[in-house]
Amino acid sequence: MSRIKYKFNTESLSYEKVSNSFKRSLLKGIRHLAVSAIMALILLLAYFAFFDTPSDRNLREENAKMAEDLSAINDSLTSFHKNLQALAGQDNEIYRAIYQLDSIPMKIRNSGFGGADRYQSYSRHEYSDIVIEIQKNLDLINRKLDVQKNSFLEIEKALEEESLRMKCTPAITPIHNDDLIRYGTDYGYRRNPITGFTQFHKGVDHTASFGTPVYASGDGVIEFANYRPNGYGKHVIIDHGVDGLSSLYAHLQSITVREGEHVVRGQLIGRVGSTGLSLGPHLHYEVHVNGQHVSPINYQIKLTSEQYDELLEGAQRNIESKFLAKK
Ligand SMILES: [Zn+2]
Repeated sequence: MSRIKYKFNTESLSYEKVSNSFKRSLLKGIRHLAVSAIMALILLLAYFAFFDTPSDRNLREENAKMAEDLSAINDSLTSFHKNLQALAGQDNEIYRAIYQLDSIPMKIRNSGFGGADRYQSYSRHEYSDIVIEIQKNLDLINRKLDVQKNSFLEIEKALEEESLRMKCTPAITPIHNDDLIRYGTDYGYRRNPITGFTQFHKGVDHTASFGTPVYASGDGVIEFANYRPNGYGKHVIIDHGVDGLSSLYAHLQSITVREGEHVVRGQLIGRVGSTGLSLGPHLHYEVHVNGQHVSPINYQIKLTSEQYDELLEGAQRNIESKFLAKK
């Protein structure tokens, strides 16, 4: 039941009914509602300004953990970088030094990547400093790894060259210790047993029985394998292909290799004889550097009989594997 309101009129001295339209009531209600909503909004904003919401708190904690993780990653990278630095030192002082390669200056190993601008593209935020630190560390590590990889490739090449040089250099007496009657040391001036004159002897004469095996003193290619009426009789010349080296085996009874054939150290190339200017069975052995004879004594490592046996077995395996590879 709606209440009827009355108002006292002082002029007519009577109570008159007060009219209260629906429209006025509605407007009043809306006004109340609007004021309440604005007040609630102000209170809410004040709350957010001074207090974290649970999701804010979670984000803040996550960020703090992330910063810790980034810092730990950067520490690991710094330690990795230090290890690489130590390796670079060893590379210069040990590995490269062994193969007589020039050391790579640290300035080159540490050279940067296109100046400071490179890091300006990183967006600025609370953790950008640590992110840039990490990127700098990664760049240095990358650079060092790159230089190190190239250095190892160079060392590998030097090692291969050295290994080839070791295989090809004449390094053994061409006759097995057990077969030698007399080890020749007569390089230089001596009385020629045939002419009787003092002459320069360009090689050494190893005495052994007829038919004793003669082995290649180093890997190489057969340059000559025939008879020539020049005093050497039947003889073999091996071009070793390194440092201008070649070796010559003279007065042979027979030859078991052909010109152009590739031979390995310890491979049978012929048998001891006395062809050419010779008084009895022996091997006249010469070593040449760029066509000039040198003392073979400097190119003959003295092996024990067991070592020589091992060398011959190795050569045999080598020849067999080459033969199988060709098939
Ligand atoms: Zn001789």
